[in-house]
Amino acid sequence: MKCPFCSHQDNRVIDSRLGRDGDVIRRRRECEGCERRFTTYERVEEILPLVVKKDGRREAYSRQKVVAGLTKACEKRPISIETIEDIADRIERSLQGSGEKELRSARIGEEVMRQLYDLDKVAYVRFASVYRSFQDLDAFMNELKILIRERSQSDPKPDRSRARKKKPSPTRTP
Ligand SMILES: [Zn+2]
Repeated sequence: MKCPFCSHQDNRVIDSRLGRDGDVIRRRRECEGCERRFTTYERVEEILPLVVKKDGRREAYSRQKVVAGLTKACEKRPISIETIEDIADRIERSLQGSGEKELRSARIGEEVMRQLYDLDKVAYVRFASVYRSFQDLDAFMNELKILIRERSQSDPKPDRSRARKKKPSPTRTP
């Protein structure tokens, strides 16, 4: 690495520390030619797989598209931009973790749904309904059924069916 002051090739690292988010290493270096100091940043190269669209065309993964989809789904929900950015990060990590060079665009949609499902059920249903409306209605209805079933199970409402079925009063018996 060339010194930015004198272009000398050799330098030594005098300090090395991890960035705030843990994904960047900051190195303080001293030039062996002019002895001036400079800083370098080292970052893990983020390689995201290519996205294969339904018609077979390939395009680069677009974080912007994912964030736009998430933002639309989370409209008027109590979800901050920071949370949306975090989710986009999580989606990217998951896509990178797959180790694939190419991914179907549907795989990204599924990942978005998985993350939204954990975050906010309204946002999830919104995204899922738009995303799946024309390609797979059955799958969407199945998801919805599961969702409704889970909600009714977790609802702390009193059990009405039990309240209605009163035991016959003993005074009525002749
Ligand atoms: Zn130098």
